[in-house]
Amino acid sequence: MAVFEGLSEKLQETMKKLRGKGRVTEKDVKEMMREIKLALLEADVNFKVVKDFIAKVSERAVGQDVLESLTPGQQVIKIVNDELIDLMGREQSKVSFSSRPPTVFMMVGLQGSGKTTTSGKLANLMRKQGKNPLLVACDVYRPAAIKQLQVVGNQLGIPVFSMGDSLSPVDIAKASIEHAASKQHDLVIIDTAGRLHIDEGLMDELLNIKNSVKPHEILLVVDSMTGQDAVNVADSFNKKLGVDGMVLTKLDGDTRGGAAISTKAVTGKPIKFVGMGEKLSDLEPFFPDRMVSRILG
Ligand code: GDP
Repeated sequence: MAVFEGLSEKLQETMKKLRGKGRVTEKDVKEMMREIKLALLEADVNFKVVKDFIAKVSERAVGQDVLESLTPGQQVIKIVNDELIDLMGREQSKVSFSSRPPTVFMMVGLQGSGKTTTSGKLANLMRKQGKNPLLVACDVYRPAAIKQLQVVGNQLGIPVFSMGDSLSPVDIAKASIEHAASKQHDLVIIDTAGRLHIDEGLMDELLNIKNSVKPHEILLVVDSMTGQDAVNVADSFNKKLGVDGMVLTKLDGDTRGGAAISTKAVTGKPIKFVGMGEKLSDLEPFFPDRMVSRILG
């Protein structure tokens, strides 16, 4: 995976040195921890997250059962593997559906994070899983945003509910749910407005929508190419609005994506999907273990 290429290479190099070792001393473990720490920091993983991670792995790796085992090198590798999976959430986190449809997903995030594209991708993915989604255009501040969602909807053959830009997003969101119920849509995906930066106005509006439509999932779309900003954005949205999960976009990008790894550890909220490209089919459910095996090779 492009954004993790550098990290992946470095970690694999370190692991290679350990793999065949018949004896591992505490000094070997220390040296390896130093290399892993550097690799993670270079990949832009959040400093505190790296520190905690290294502490956990070190503690387990210098344990008696590892140093005295027959395959200590491999045991240490297994610990790194396990702890990385933990860092990314351990189990796959699925979206939840209401027993009384329509289920409502509210998509939030900064402008440019990939929110509108992701709304379309998610609708597409959910349709493949048997849902009948309705996309809702609630970004009334940028006429281009409504149009963009309509274009996405057209490409997918998925209806887009819009009421132009003269009503409030809260009213549009409420109306969309009535509309969905009357048209047998069992899933409503609301594309909300984003701003370039987090501000009170944006948060108030999102809170209003949240309080009036009670979404089953608030999904925060985070651009993994924005480095530590991605972590700060995730943290602020979660503190002010409360989110249920994250979608990391642009994992196919070519900048260091390590920050993305930290979002789960910093916010405590799971990564539910990852965006792997610009096409409307480029969205995948997120599996921590699969991501780690991609990184560790
Ligand atoms: P919004 O302002 O948050 O609604 O963002 P958009 O949906 O308009 O996306 C901004 C840009 O990011 C567009 O050019 C998208 O094609 C692109 N984009 C979104 N998701 C991905 C992704 O996973 N990978 C890549 N390479 N580009 C993406």
